[in-house]
Amino acid sequence: MQKICAALKRKGRTIGFVPTMGALHKGHLSLIQQARKDNRTIVVSIFVNPIQFALHEDLKAYPRPFKKDIPLLQKENVDFLFYPQAEKMYPENFRTSVEVKVMGKVLCGVSRPDHFCGVATVVTKLFNIIQPDAAYFGQKDAQQATIIRRMADDLNMPFKIKVMPTVRDTDGLALSSRNVYLNSQERQDSLVLSKALGLARELIRHGQRNALCVINRMKALIRTKKTAKIGYIAIVDSRTLNPVKIVGNNCLICLAVRFGKTRLIDNLLTRGE
Ligand code: AMP
Repeated sequence: MQKICAALKRKGRTIGFVPTMGALHKGHLSLIQQARKDNRTIVVSIFVNPIQFALHEDLKAYPRPFKKDIPLLQKENVDFLFYPQAEKMYPENFRTSVEVKVMGKVLCGVSRPDHFCGVATVVTKLFNIIQPDAAYFGQKDAQQATIIRRMADDLNMPFKIKVMPTVRDTDGLALSSRNVYLNSQERQDSLVLSKALGLARELIRHGQRNALCVINRMKALIRTKKTAKIGYIAIVDSRTLNPVKIVGNNCLICLAVRFGKTRLIDNLLTRGE
């Protein structure tokens, strides 16, 4: 893959890269479509990265409908699919990782302390293999997007990082490969996430700037659903991930909530609310 990409670059082809863990949905496809607009060649990777899962997490159960993914990629005219094996990415003598400091320890990093180190390490490996001109990520995973932007800047990675808006189901639930784990009650209850973010937006539009008040109203709404168990709700600066007391522009209102065994995340970026 590295040789192929290097040869394409020598020919002057621009490469747009979309890293995924497969189980593709319209959220992934929106990244691919943007990459297609911006670049001559599109590379998509499918790799369920073991080092970003903790031992008790869903690495084994993670959906891998590989055969269903292929036609979706073909339909989008993706030029290359890179799907390496874990043993090739992490041979026995693998010893190096990319450390993510404070930004990897807050929000999702509290319950998933090694997750963002695993993400930053695999993304760096993939970037070095593909050598893209631009790489595409989703706002759905806002903390991940912020960390990768920061990493690319901090480590002088010579390409653009583009972050695309969250794609939602018609009823508001953010698309995620993990939504298939939800039973019908949980699926119904999960709608409260986009409703809670909508409530936050309304409160802010009507002049509520106190972050704690907004968070408390969101918590109260989410707690009306029996299957929901709140992990966190936070309002942070979207660039630093530091908590804010007063809600202004470029704040990230983000949450993680468990429905049964399934942990879902969602967020809203404030822009002139
Ligand atoms: P994943 O396969 O879950 O690792 O996601 C691969 C990429 O797709 C990441 O950059 C995600 O942020 C992005 N993504 C996942 N779900 C969505 C969504 N609903 N809307 C937009 N992007 C998404």
